[in-house]
Amino acid sequence: MQVYLDNASTTKMSRAAIEAMLPFYDEIYGNPSSLHRMGQRAKEFLDKARETVAGCLGASPGEIIFTSGGSEADNQAIISAARYGARKGKKHIITTAFEHHAVLHTVGKLEKEGYDVTYLPVGKTGTVSAQQVSDAIRDDTCLVTVMTANNEIGSVLPVKEIGAVCRERHVPFHTDAVQAVGHIPVNVAEMNIDMLSLSAHKFHGPKGVGVLYAKKGVPLSNIIEGGAQEKGKRAGTENLAGIAGLAAALSEACAGLAGNMERISRLRDKLIAGLGSIPHSVLNGDRVNRLPGNVHFCFEGIEGESLLLLLDEYGVEASSGSACTSGSLDPSHVLLAIGHPHEIAHGSLRLTLSEYTTEEEIDYALQAVPKVVERLRGFSPVWRDKVNGIKPFIL
Ligand SMILES: *Cc1c(COP(=O)(O)O)cnc(C)c1O
Repeated sequence: MQVYLDNASTTKMSRAAIEAMLPFYDEIYGNPSSLHRMGQRAKEFLDKARETVAGCLGASPGEIIFTSGGSEADNQAIISAARYGARKGKKHIITTAFEHHAVLHTVGKLEKEGYDVTYLPVGKTGTVSAQQVSDAIRDDTCLVTVMTANNEIGSVLPVKEIGAVCRERHVPFHTDAVQAVGHIPVNVAEMNIDMLSLSAHKFHGPKGVGVLYAKKGVPLSNIIEGGAQEKGKRAGTENLAGIAGLAAALSEACAGLAGNMERISRLRDKLIAGLGSIPHSVLNGDRVNRLPGNVHFCFEGIEGESLLLLLDEYGVEASSGSACTSGSLDPSHVLLAIGHPHEIAHGSLRLTLSEYTTEEEIDYALQAVPKVVERLRGFSPVWRDKVNGIKPFIL
């Protein structure tokens, strides 16, 4: 059996998304900037897609900028706020210790250029409070960027409350909502969001296309210079097929949101209950404020990479956390941020579900994971020392 449980890394495209894309490869191949009929037809579809996306987010079409994905949207949001802040003598940025690297590396670069960055601690359950944000805001704060939901441990953050604090203190607020949009309700107006990033391939759309939402009046700088596309804020001929796929996948995800959340959460809870009975394990992230499709454990005495390789032999495709850290031997910055020692952080397993995940697949994973954990512990000298009382158990 082949069981794909790595939907936080990327998802399978929906049929509707694929079909929405196809016409743009042959029939409607015009450049939306062209004045002739073929170009104008393309432009009509582009406008329609923008309206669809805006509708799903509670935004206006003019506030939607299409990008090459979540990473680009994060980069543009942060750099825009930083440049604008600098002109006003404000060079302080607030973020969290467990953001995606698209955020962390961007603020890290700004830090080297002389910006001051506050990395809020995220505690054991992986969240920050509006109070923490409020306490960190200074007169020279030019941006608060806090993710809506964490991509590794699945915790959902109180973005609406954080947004309210930022609005009250007149500080621009950006949220990386790449893991949230299409999976939990996200409304930029209700949640006091000034800028938001999303990415199509995390909700059954195509890879290489995303959105930066920027509230009307929020100043944006270009990352990509050139033509006047996207109101002059993002140059380059629009990825029309990708945008059509994004819009189709998003409207599908929004329409099915409540039903999917309920069904996927139920499977998630079954998986959590089963894996939680493995001795010396811990569920990471918040039990309640959690993405419907996220299951994330650490198993003591195990090396995450071997766990993934062995699971793959059983047909279970999983991740140890972020796709960006796999392949490197450093433990995940997210697991260190929630307070795990290196040894425990190394033994992590992330299983992420989608609307295509079946109960049969979850049952299969529930058989495979404990078997693999037991086999690996059987080989592990560290585990033997713990069992024999030479080394203490941590979990
Ligand atoms: C996947 C992801 C990104 C990057 O999106 P891309 O479209 O792959 O560039 C950014 N932030 C989070 C939280 C993600 O999960």
